[in-house]
Amino acid sequence: MKVAIDGPAGAGKSVVARAAAKALGFIYVDTGALYRAIGLYALRKGVNPGDAEAVLPLLSEIKEELRFVDGEQRVILNEEDVSDVIRTEEVSAAASAVSAIPQVRAFLYHTQRDIAEKNDVIMDGRDIGTAILPDAELKIFMTAAPEARALRRVRQLAERGIQAKYEDVFAEIQKRDANDSSRAAAPLMQASDAVLFDNTEMTLEENIEKVKKMIQEAKCR
Ligand code: C5P
Repeated sequence: MKVAIDGPAGAGKSVVARAAAKALGFIYVDTGALYRAIGLYALRKGVNPGDAEAVLPLLSEIKEELRFVDGEQRVILNEEDVSDVIRTEEVSAAASAVSAIPQVRAFLYHTQRDIAEKNDVIMDGRDIGTAILPDAELKIFMTAAPEARALRRVRQLAERGIQAKYEDVFAEIQKRDANDSSRAAAPLMQASDAVLFDNTEMTLEENIEKVKKMIQEAKCR
């Protein structure tokens, strides 16, 4: 079974998808990590992640793989586990920039598709319902007010020991939303057959329970 969860940054996709996947025996696939790893590689090479001509030659140097250790996804970039170092705000912005390059999206297509062919997956991203898994049995477009998303992001970063200012995170989220929604290649968009799910007023527990229920119902259809 394939479940697609798309939506803007900070909507709670990853926390909810991870919890639902664990409870229901699915594999949780965080596709943003794949774009983040390419963003990281560009930064390390001193290449502007927004410069398509400079980024494209790098793709032939990159081998990316997703591994699952005790149900947890790890992102392997040229044999190095970069799962933790891709979580900075600098890498978020770089990921958003490289993800607008159509060849980067094409480069990552099969990695995502292959995992979904072989496993029951809950996959989160921006174009899962529209481009990667158009055949998903359930598509959720998860969103929340930008202020709520920024606040959650600040807390999430704090849990990882990263101190970030609300104003900076809010600005970064708005910029990233605008980039992701306005790009020509697979923009962030609700699939026509996706359920719109606004969780601004929900607690995390309510959110997780609701998504689990939606998945169980879709399974029975
Ligand atoms: O989900 P996450 O915040 O980790 O994603 C980082 C960036 O990667 C997003 O802002 C977006 O630009 C890009 N992305 C994408 N398509 C996906 C997942 C992420 O373009 N399926």
